[in-house]
Amino acid sequence: MTTELHTSPYTSEAAPRVDQPKHAALSASLLDWYARERRTLPWRERRDPYSIWVSEIMLQQTQVATVIGYYERWMQRFPTLERLADAPIEEVLLAWEGLGYYSRARNLRSAAQKVVASHGGQLPRSIEELRTLPGIGAYSAGAIASIAFDADEPAVDGNIVRVLTRLFALGGDPKRAPLRERLWQLARALIPKGRARDFNQALMELGATCCSPRSPRCAQCPVQKHCLALARDRVADFPEAAPRPKITDQSRAAAVVRRGGRVLVVRAGATAPRWAGMWQFPDTQLATGDDPSEVLRRSVEQSTGVVVDALDCVGNLRHQVTRFRIAIDIYAGRARSGRARPIEYAEVRWSDPELLGTLAMPAAHRKIARSLV
Ligand code: SF4
Repeated sequence: MTTELHTSPYTSEAAPRVDQPKHAALSASLLDWYARERRTLPWRERRDPYSIWVSEIMLQQTQVATVIGYYERWMQRFPTLERLADAPIEEVLLAWEGLGYYSRARNLRSAAQKVVASHGGQLPRSIEELRTLPGIGAYSAGAIASIAFDADEPAVDGNIVRVLTRLFALGGDPKRAPLRERLWQLARALIPKGRARDFNQALMELGATCCSPRSPRCAQCPVQKHCLALARDRVADFPEAAPRPKITDQSRAAAVVRRGGRVLVVRAGATAPRWAGMWQFPDTQLATGDDPSEVLRRSVEQSTGVVVDALDCVGNLRHQVTRFRIAIDIYAGRARSGRARPIEYAEVRWSDPELLGTLAMPAAHRKIARSLV
């Protein structure tokens, strides 16, 4: 899993001198191990910058095992950057459906359009230009520059933070200065000249397969003799644990409104704070003491113009999005009157339940849609 933890890639001028033989030996051991043990992954079979960029964005906040299928389907559907730039946003969101963090998909498409408009369809090579593209932060820029263009640039993701803080027994909050800067400087200084492509991937691979968060396999680690945390028997102390985000409970109600054989679905606008551009059943947040069916019935009418007979609770589901633990009660009812129109949404539609599979939906609403067919 990778996360955009960092905001500034430090320049080579700022890098500390770590050219001592032991650091060179550490890097060499890691590269040898990577050459022997690296996993075969579909994006490692390709060298074109577009496919590397797509894989890096998908791998943010998502496990490799999950990404593989999505990546292969994506590359079949959008084999080139131009094809992605031309694709309707709905098609892009549908291809991304289930991966979550949908801003990544919207940013990929926006960035592809910008590359076509301003860079002749070629992903730029420099860190500075890469970082002007939507969704590309310091980590992604470093990963693309090193893996796609062989530039000796570091790329510090969550895996590399874990490996480096353990190898060098570095305390402090890795998301903040001064440790954040120190990690980028170390990652840069450890790159053997001309080898950033393999070296960055080797560090990530070590973090993903050997130096895992809870049960690192130190006995099999290719750099164990260099590891200060292991030598001090303090592996569990690094990296410093981030404070857990406070989980907020939220109650919502969603309406399955039928007219004839169709159901009412709505699409959030491109700038909506939640699920922008995606389809869902009309829903509303509930406050303590609300009568859910009445609040929902009023919400459907205010947001779509459709007047609904009484709504009956037919089920519920729970899911978690970032720091929200959401309970959704599902209500069903029939439309009595009113023409469906997009009062508070970008679009409303009466859809055949069989066709809901062609609309991009967030996971919770996809579950409701599946229950209808
Ligand atoms: Fe991680 Fe253990 Fe290797 Fe140190 S020895 S880098 S803690 S796997």
